[in-house]
Amino acid sequence: MKLHELGHILDIEMEAGSLINTETWITGISYRSQEVKEGYLFVAIKGHQKDGHQYITQAIENGACAVIGEEENLDIPVPYFCVGNSRRALSLVSDHYYNFPTHDKIIIGVTGTNGKTTTSSLLRNILEENGFSCALFGSTKNIINGVSYTTVNTTPTLLEINRLLAGSEDEVLIIEVSSHALTQHRVDGILFDYALFTNLSHDHLDYHGSMENYFSAKKKLFSMLKKNGKAIVNTDDYWGEILADELSAQGIPAITVGENKQSDVKLERYTFEPRKLLLKDREEIIPVKPFIYGYHNMYNIAMAYGTARQIGVDMEATIRSIEQFKGVEGRFTVIFTHRGSKVAIDYAHTPDALFHCLNTVREQCDGKLIHLFGFRGDRDSTKREEMISISSELSDQYILTFDDLNSVSSEVMKNTLVEIQEKYGYHNGRVIMDRTKAIEDAVASAREKDWIVITGKGLEKYQQKYQHPVQNDEEAVLFLGSE
Ligand code: ADP
Repeated sequence: MKLHELGHILDIEMEAGSLINTETWITGISYRSQEVKEGYLFVAIKGHQKDGHQYITQAIENGACAVIGEEENLDIPVPYFCVGNSRRALSLVSDHYYNFPTHDKIIIGVTGTNGKTTTSSLLRNILEENGFSCALFGSTKNIINGVSYTTVNTTPTLLEINRLLAGSEDEVLIIEVSSHALTQHRVDGILFDYALFTNLSHDHLDYHGSMENYFSAKKKLFSMLKKNGKAIVNTDDYWGEILADELSAQGIPAITVGENKQSDVKLERYTFEPRKLLLKDREEIIPVKPFIYGYHNMYNIAMAYGTARQIGVDMEATIRSIEQFKGVEGRFTVIFTHRGSKVAIDYAHTPDALFHCLNTVREQCDGKLIHLFGFRGDRDSTKREEMISISSELSDQYILTFDDLNSVSSEVMKNTLVEIQEKYGYHNGRVIMDRTKAIEDAVASAREKDWIVITGKGLEKYQQKYQHPVQNDEEAVLFLGSE
């Protein structure tokens, strides 16, 4: 891509630095000044904690040949493009730079508060096992051409997506799309063949302010469907039902999933022991023996089933893949202790997820249920009261402990936990700040038939210690690491 093309792509005039040769080739794009090399285009983004405009000089020193930003009248020695929204511009230019790598693929977007990772991973398994090579961008990993890469955020920017996809031979691309990504224009420019809505419940209200705003953010995904694109929606969910109605009013086809008898994919019945799910697809009743547990996962199965069938995977083959799916690590992973108790490790970090996870254990626990959890520093604190009340109700004992502290000191978090415990005064709860000690204590007190449920960290094998200001890498700082 040459410098002079930027004006056409962004549909604006270049400012400043006009003496530069506009035939110059752009050699890369970045919004992280320390990543910029000779000939790069630097995009200055106003972030939550830092403002990329303050790094323009550093980017130019590192070799930036042009800059995109939002501040007017900047006097800099290289061509400058002043845009209304740098994040949008980043998506736009990266699409052109990498020659639209998403355009030749079947694109599936998965959104919702809970279940994105499980649904996406299951769907990928079904597709891969049935002849479709499938890339995935998700919160636990990105997979391109069958190779896994680590992730920073649930949804990367289109720049990272395109960079990784440039060499992809995958036919299908599944993207977990967070509400942050939608409001921050991270996937602007992608047109989706299928958009999935798993559910919407209390989370991220520190960012969105209200459930209505949170829903509006999620809804944006469905305005990004291709002309013949389809939605797959869990209509047992309050917001899912609203979404399906709105889509139907706009003439957008929606495959509905739920217990309602009008659902296209109906959850007919689920029994825990033996694990058996009956799905109804139009008039046909389909028995499934899933490996994964929990009623919430039956929704994830039904969503993945509905999508795979739309893509054209044979029914029996779809069911076979569902039955073989062993789940995602850290999403209800069960470990057996030498004393005969069981430990479930789960990523539940919202009241709804906690309810489902604890309920799943409650249904099969003949002994005591000990629940261990905490609250992340710098994250939506309005959900804490509901989480603690669910835990108190569904467990026999709960232990409040540290989760990631982020920019909250251990002293402040300790006081928070103690205050919460004193305020709500649930008799079956106590505080053990040190997470390791809390786990040791729970394991030591558990006997045969007891269950210990550890929620919050999932597969993450570290705990984010106190750091103020937070020293995340610049991407997370710029792009709000709170999703
Ligand atoms: P996400 O990627 O949206 O965070 P995951 O599939 O990683 O979703 O699941 C995170 C947690 O949410 C799980 O550990 C489980 O406790 C809960 N969960 C998963 N699927 C659902 C669902 N369909 N409904 C409610 N809770 C769910």
